[in-house]
Amino acid sequence: MDFRLSRAETELREAVRTFLAADPAIAARPFPEDGWITGFDPAFSARLAERGFVGMTWPVALGGGERSYVERLVVTEELLRAGAPVAAHWFGDRQIGPALLAHGNQAQQRSLIPAIARAEICFCIGMSEPGAGSDLSALQTRARRDGESYVISGQKTWTSFADRADYCYLVARTDPAARPHRGISELLVPMDAPGITVRPIVDIVGDSHFGEVFFDEVRIPCEMRIGTENRGWYQIMEQLDYERSGIERLISNYPLWRDLLRSAKASGRARDPRLRQRIAAIEIGYHAGRLMVYRVARELSEGRVPNRETAAAKVFCTNLEQQLADLAGEILGPAVQLAPASARAPLGGRAARALLYAQAYTIQGGTDNILRNIIATRGLGLPAQ
Ligand SMILES: Cc1cc2nc3c(=O)[nH]c(=O)nc-3n(C[C@H](O)[C@H](O)[C@H](O)COP(=O)(O)OP(=O)(O)OC[C@H]3O[C@@H](n4cnc5c(N)ncnc54)[C@H](O)[C@@H]3O)c2cc1C
Repeated sequence: MDFRLSRAETELREAVRTFLAADPAIAARPFPEDGWITGFDPAFSARLAERGFVGMTWPVALGGGERSYVERLVVTEELLRAGAPVAAHWFGDRQIGPALLAHGNQAQQRSLIPAIARAEICFCIGMSEPGAGSDLSALQTRARRDGESYVISGQKTWTSFADRADYCYLVARTDPAARPHRGISELLVPMDAPGITVRPIVDIVGDSHFGEVFFDEVRIPCEMRIGTENRGWYQIMEQLDYERSGIERLISNYPLWRDLLRSAKASGRARDPRLRQRIAAIEIGYHAGRLMVYRVARELSEGRVPNRETAAAKVFCTNLEQQLADLAGEILGPAVQLAPASARAPLGGRAARALLYAQAYTIQGGTDNILRNIIATRGLGLPAQ
């Protein structure tokens, strides 16, 4: 097997690096980690889109680039490695566009897909509820049919970018009498619709990129449903594979890793043989994780939606990210606990932030336990409990 990129893919990587080197947004970020979560910069996203780096795999007729998933991965890898602020277009590019291409009606495809490819609209994802996270089929948010409208009532939580999104991709119960998986539909809800209230949640690092969303008799036209009524569950399963399979699961903390190694070399800590072993293990993990993510992209390029491979890649990669954060704490020692504002906080407090925030990696997008269940049942053929 040849693991090298093709000449065109290598040239594409160089083109992204050249673009990033000239763009002012990179240097302006206070810290470069988690660019797809904390780097919300619509102007940067628009520049990226203009360069053809958003909607890369979609049809040209809808504003896409008809490039392969591997080419898209080359671009996203470079963006996240550099700490680029890609959050404003990330959900639209990663999963809403593909969901609309697979199940959206013509009007949705014609109007929304080109707008996503131009990075003009931003989405939040309204799946989780207070009583429905891992078991999404327990969701209670109701979308009641009233003529040609749905009337939505309920609550979502942990909704990233709810306070900034133009649309919520909402999963709601459209048939309460059906079995849990069978009565669910996917809807697009404009976030300025009357009856929506967003309440931000402050996370452990003091950031509030997500929030609670309350829907109080919110009315939307039925044309805003994606795909078939009550078939949402089955459509969502495909979408989750896109959500879980990206390189953001592996290299959210990469900028920290790069600077941590520099600092360990400068301080002499990198000469400690015990630490050297662990540094080597993480570096090897990066290479292995990268191959897993590239494998998923190759499967997607060949028209398959790899499900168990996606689960395995997310488990491996997010655990590596957590090991990295732990190692950062060990290399930098107790000083890592100094508040970021302190002049003596190592790496400007970035390692402390990573240590705290890394817990999220194995929860968001599906917890480790749930993904291990998928690997066990669909990958290894073990019986479901
Ligand atoms: C940073 C961050 C951003 C997020 N952004 C979004 C977003 O934009 N939109 C959105 O909809 N959601 C979002 N989420 C929510 C996320 O999808 C849920 O937190 C996740 O699915 C887990 O659900 P839960 O929190 O309800 O935990 P629970 O489902 O209650 O799980 C609690 C524990 O029980 C375990 N568990 C549950 N069921 C099983 C089982 N069958 N077998 C074994 N173990 C099990 C879990 O692994 C976990 O350890 C975000 C979460 C985080 C941390």
